[in-house]
This record gives sequence, C-alpha cells and structure tokens, in this order.
Amino acid sequence: MIDCTGLLGLQDFDLEIDKLDERICQIRDKAVRMGADIQKAQDLLEKKAALLRKIQIRKKALENDLQSLTERLKTLELRMKTAGIAPSVYVAIEKECSGTKARISEAETKLLEDMEKVESLEKDNAKEQKILVGLRQQLDEVKKRQARELGEINRNKESVKDQRKMATLKIPCDILQVYEELRTEKKGQVVWNIEAPSCPACGFSLPGGFINPLIGVAGAEACPYCGVLIRWTGLLDSVR
Ligand SMILES: [Zn+2]
Repeated sequence: MIDCTGLLGLQDFDLEIDKLDERICQIRDKAVRMGADIQKAQDLLEKKAALLRKIQIRKKALENDLQSLTERLKTLELRMKTAGIAPSVYVAIEKECSGTKARISEAETKLLEDMEKVESLEKDNAKEQKILVGLRQQLDEVKKRQARELGEINRNKESVKDQRKMATLKIPCDILQVYEELRTEKKGQVVWNIEAPSCPACGFSLPGGFINPLIGVAGAEACPYCGVLIRWTGLLDSVR
C-alpha cells in the first residue's frame, strides 16, 4: 500500500503545470498558424505579381506590333493611290493590305484582352496587398498580446514549480521516487481516485481482490496492468 497523503497535493501541482504547458503550446500554435497563412497569401501575391509583369511585357510587345502594322498599312494605302501603278502590283498590294488589316484586328483583340487582364490583376493585387498588410498588423498585435500572456503564464508556472518543490520535501523518498518515475513515464495523471472497478488510465477492469483492500483506506496500489496508483473512493462495500 502506498501512502498518498503528500502525493495528491504534489499531483495537483503537476496537473496545473501540464495545463499551463498546454496553454503555452496553444498560444504558440496560433501564432505559427497565422504566420503560415500570411506566408501562403504572400506567395500567392508574388505569383500574381509575376503574372502581371508577364502580361504587361506581352501587352507592350502587342502595342509595338500594332504600331508597325498600322504604319505598314498607311504606306500600302499610299502606294495604291500612286498614279500609273501596274494592275498586277495593285492586286498584290491590295492583298497585303487585307492581310495587314486582319493582323491589326487580331492584335487589337489580343491587346484589349490583355488590357482587361492587367486592369483586373492590378485591382486584385492591390486589394490582396492591403489584406496582407492587415494580416501582418493583426499578427503583430496577437504576438504582443501573447507575449504578455506567455509572461504571465510562465511566472505562474515558476510559482507552481516552487510550490511543487516545497511539496516534495514532505514526501518520503521511496514514495516520491515511485511517483516521479510514473510521472516521467506517463507524463500525466499518476494517482487516480476511482469509484468503479476499472483503471481510468489503461481501461482494464480491476478484480475484487485488487479493490477490496483499498476500500476505506487512504493509500493506493499500482494498477497491475499499467502501474498507475489507484485509490478507491467509491462505496465502502466490498467489490465482487
Ligand atoms: Zn491501469
């Protein structure tokens, strides 16, 4: 039988420390998640900015093409008006004229499409840039708030640790060692109060022969299956 008088208080401090550690993890996770979202938004924005640059370059090339095609058309039209031009030459120039017109029309359509794409991408990117700035500000604020909260939690944790240290001084060495080993191994609750004959840590049902000696006493016994310390706080009748 293991005397649990000091262990229960010690365990309360340990469970408190576990809770504080869990809270610290949650807080850090939140900032990490927000940072990852911002990175994703930033990557997407960079991709769209690269696309915009590509379309702007293509648009510039189309504008140049259009200009030289228009000039060529003007030259051809002037030549068609030249006096004394041979009919076969006239027909050839006329053919080139209509080909040039078709190319102009094609370039104009493409240019119009690119202009629309540029306009919509510029608008989108500006909007997303603003959102990104907002997200970064939000993360900064969250981090500031978290730093205060983490500071408070860590101070709290130090104080609980100090109290824990004091509590260990009142516990006999052999019992403390059993507890500390289980605690290191299980990283959670070590002493369990039960009112039904099964182990809350491993789930196995505990025989009457294990429970009965625990009835009406303050001490604990190790679960025969997983080793955690079991106290009976249920009915005072024997368990069959
Ligand atoms: Zn067990």
